Amino acid sequence: MPKKSKHPSDLPLHKIIMVGSGGVGKSALTLQFMYGDFIEEYDPTKADSYRKKVVLDTQECFIDILDTAGQEEYAAIRDNYYRSGEGFFVVFSITEAESFSHAQEFRDQICRVVNDETVPFVLVGNKSDLAHLRKVSPRDGEAKAKEWQCPYIETSAKTKENVDLAYQTLMRSIRDRKEKVHGKSHGGKKEKKSGCEII
Ligand code: GDP
Ligand code: MG
Repeated sequence: MPKKSKHPSDLPLHKIIMVGSGGVGKSALTLQFMYGDFIEEYDPTKADSYRKKVVLDTQECFIDILDTAGQEEYAAIRDNYYRSGEGFFVVFSITEAESFSHAQEFRDQICRVVNDETVPFVLVGNKSDLAHLRKVSPRDGEAKAKEWQCPYIETSAKTKENVDLAYQTLMRSIRDRKEKVHGKSHGGKKEKKSGCEII
């Protein structure tokens, strides 16, 4: 697509929601992506939203990130968050098996709420720098992502490994889906459904 010079307010906006068990690194990933820093201690009860201007494949756009903290008091509030999302990071820690099983619960909850099988997901196995404490194998992560028909990316919010890649991957899926909805062709690129099964 040709690059257009647009007024900033006309730039596309992609809305991402971070979900996952407490302590897996949702805030650390968000802050690493936003500010290029590893914040070791961040209030685990704090949910916040962020906006950043980014260049995605030569096109400027904005990204909104909602970093959830599992403190939403009412399911209705949580569901409204989910409805406002255009793409989801489901994060677990490769050092904690329980967070991996919780990933499935987050995914199921989101699917029930958004009720749209094309909504983009990325499954993120965080804390890849802690390889010696690994409890979830890359194969298990890959297998789950295959079930969900979405990418699996292992990241480290500490070393920044794959952090930009993870956000870019999700932003591309969101952008491609919007272009598809608006009937624009995208260089003949094959579109892939993310396969959110309604149960
Ligand atoms: P959240 O509850 O999902 O938002 O998790 P936080 O971002 O608050 O991170 C929980 C803890 O894990 C903190 O002590 C972080 O410093 C640590 N942490 C987060 N990401 C990583 C990572 O990639 N590697 C390592 N070694 N520690 C991490
Ligand atoms: Mg947090």
